[in-house]
Amino acid sequence: MTTSVSQPKSTDEWILRSLASVWHPCTQMKHHEQMPLVTIARGKGAWLYDDQDKPILDCISSWWTNLFGHSNLFINQRIQAQLEKIEHVMLAGFTHQPVIELSERLSALTQHRLGHAFYASDGASAVEIALKMSHHYWQLAGKPEKSRFVCLQNSYHGETLGALAVTDVPLFRTAYGSLLSDVFTVMSPDSRQAQDGESEAEVALRAAHELEKLLQREHHHIAALILEPLVQCAGQMAMHPPIYLQRARALCDQYGVHLIADEIAVGCGRTGKFFACEHAGIWPDFITLSKGISGGYLPLSLCLTTDAIYQAFYSDDTARGFLHSHSYTGNPLACAAALACLDLFASENVLECNLQRAHDLASAFTWTKSDKRIKYLRQQGMILAFDVVPDALNKPGTFAREIFTRGIEEGILVRPIGSTVYVMPPYILSADETMEMGQRIQQVVEDVLHAQKP
Ligand SMILES: *Cc1c(COP(=O)(O)O)cnc(C)c1O
Repeated sequence: MTTSVSQPKSTDEWILRSLASVWHPCTQMKHHEQMPLVTIARGKGAWLYDDQDKPILDCISSWWTNLFGHSNLFINQRIQAQLEKIEHVMLAGFTHQPVIELSERLSALTQHRLGHAFYASDGASAVEIALKMSHHYWQLAGKPEKSRFVCLQNSYHGETLGALAVTDVPLFRTAYGSLLSDVFTVMSPDSRQAQDGESEAEVALRAAHELEKLLQREHHHIAALILEPLVQCAGQMAMHPPIYLQRARALCDQYGVHLIADEIAVGCGRTGKFFACEHAGIWPDFITLSKGISGGYLPLSLCLTTDAIYQAFYSDDTARGFLHSHSYTGNPLACAAALACLDLFASENVLECNLQRAHDLASAFTWTKSDKRIKYLRQQGMILAFDVVPDALNKPGTFAREIFTRGIEEGILVRPIGSTVYVMPPYILSADETMEMGQRIQQVVEDVLHAQKP
């Protein structure tokens, strides 16, 4: 059998072959008749290089995964060293040093409140694990009627069927509605909903009050509340203050409902603390992590939980165990990448240095404040976002793609969500690079808005 592939002669040929054989994620493939498909040949630091060696600044950390740049020598080395020892072994009946060390260090980062780590490969799987564990816990506790979940409006927790059920994004959900379990959806604390004179905290308390009413009425049927602390990332980077998390924790305690903090996007230092929940001084019953945990190198996800949950499953009876697995659970190479990242957090003082980087980020986008076509400039640590007002757009449906396309020409990777433009850069940008990012985005937004003029 020959499987050799001939070397294409041109970029165009690569693209045609990709479009013929690769079905790209989260994409209406027909849009690629207009939108460029970019062939990336290599990466270094915050820059990606296409096959003509044109540099593109990765303003969104390659879908929020890449924390310390592409082809980071330190992480490369650590993965190579692990590769010499063992690339993979099943985690049922076996264990290995990288997975043990990673679990212990993550436990320590939660002050040992969530000291049990269950591994998977993708974010959505970690969400499935948290949902299943909570659901199963209540059966084991003799309360099988506590079986349903609560999510926030505008939530996103992944696209497998369980995770999609607690995702409130019609575009992702609608076609699969009949496959999804019934959930309760409550008001989002999104600060953009502030009415005249209402503060962010007041919006959050209004949302918490809605949650309270639901829990009062339905807590006998509710297993857990799942939310993204501080920023609903895929939900147009909607932000809320920590007081909502404090109220949610208190209400979950009061009504005997688990709290699942999905920190897949907001964890790993993105909001300024290692876990976003730390801003509120609370600990949930489950934390899901993925994306940044392996620095954007290898698929790794996990669900951290408490000893109380773990002990409920601990029994002589096999069926009381948590019988869930994925083939690549706890992959040693991915764990080695994650350990390298945790080492970098410590040795480079990343959380502290990010205070300055977040400050640089704010400076790079002050231009948005004087532009009447832009509103809701908002920032939480290393996430900055703003919205373009509907009146400035003739074809709102194509705005995001036009920004992406124009951005690639300008040498930046930005991928707006609807009319929300955001950046979520790796934690390695220099002040100059940050400024340049802001300027290039200004140019791109200006060009697209000019072309879109209603
Ligand atoms: C990306 C994301 C997920 C899903 O992770 P995948 O690895 O894409 O399956 C879940 N929750 C949140 C908050 C995310 O941002």
